[in-house]
Amino acid sequence: MAGQPVIICGASKDSLAKIRLLLKTSAKITVYDTEFGAEYLRLATIKAIRLETNEPASDAIKAAVFGYIGYEDIQMRRRIRALFIAAGTPFCLIDDKDNSDFITPAIIDRAPVTIAIGSEGLAPVLVRHLKARIEAIVPLSAGRLAHDYAYDEIRISHEQNILLPHLPKQHLLAVWKGLQKIGLASANIGLASDIIACPGLDYCTLATARSIPIAQSLGVRFATRKREQDIGPLKIKISGCINACGHHHVGHIGILGLERAGVENYQITLGGDGGEDAALGNHTGPGFSAEELIQAIDRILDVYLAGRTSKQETFIRFYRRVGLPPFKAALYPGKTEAS
Ligand code: SF4
Repeated sequence: MAGQPVIICGASKDSLAKIRLLLKTSAKITVYDTEFGAEYLRLATIKAIRLETNEPASDAIKAAVFGYIGYEDIQMRRRIRALFIAAGTPFCLIDDKDNSDFITPAIIDRAPVTIAIGSEGLAPVLVRHLKARIEAIVPLSAGRLAHDYAYDEIRISHEQNILLPHLPKQHLLAVWKGLQKIGLASANIGLASDIIACPGLDYCTLATARSIPIAQSLGVRFATRKREQDIGPLKIKISGCINACGHHHVGHIGILGLERAGVENYQITLGGDGGEDAALGNHTGPGFSAEELIQAIDRILDVYLAGRTSKQETFIRFYRRVGLPPFKAALYPGKTEAS
């Protein structure tokens, strides 16, 4: 598309993401709308894009190699789409795969690294939220570190950590110093605050409870390095409904968010393991409210810390030795048989 005209109809936030993608090429970008936000005006000032306050004429659409339709108004989307069809110019109706000629993935620019999220046009809201989450956890400068030291590659692992898969040993110190500057140098892999949490009620339409705030509260609770170092290896996994995307069944401590009479309620399982000795966790008993849950997890860990034979007896080994009873006694004091 070098030097070719591309048109964007509708100066929306989603259109801006497409423009950022196009700015990596030498395409001639024209944006049509009646009003433009600050970023559009800035790009126009530096002559990266051209702004037009009228609707695109048929001949402009015909001359374009392709276009994006980003209007939010349904009538406008329909009308401009019809013009593209009549002109025979390929177009993407943003967030509407079925009515588009092509789609493009959501792009996260961490130059020089680019992260693309593709969903074949399905679940646009989920993709938008995923994009926001990744933008929040992968700082702008992480791309620079990956470029300078790790062959331009960043991966997000299923344990929700950022991975630089190809990092030469001699660069370790420099990368660590770089990570310190952007607040990502916490040495907590495999410890209590290294939690897997599904999107939960904040982002998932299937959810029955929130997961992310629970993970954040636990993270704050364990933020004292000494406490989580003392606890040692521990996998906490949280799902916001029975679909179990957060893998709570195989968490040493699994948390399942449910809903009881309109109130979030969290059930705890213990003893799950996704490792070589794979096991499903055992249900401890009645669930807890979000407020009670953090204290319940604390009580579980107190049982472990008080009862382990030594630091070498990890939480999961301790659980396999003693089973559920001491944990139930701590979670449901005064009940001989919690159901
Ligand atoms: S476990 Fe449930 S709430 Fe969490 S992401 Fe999966 S479907 Fe959504």
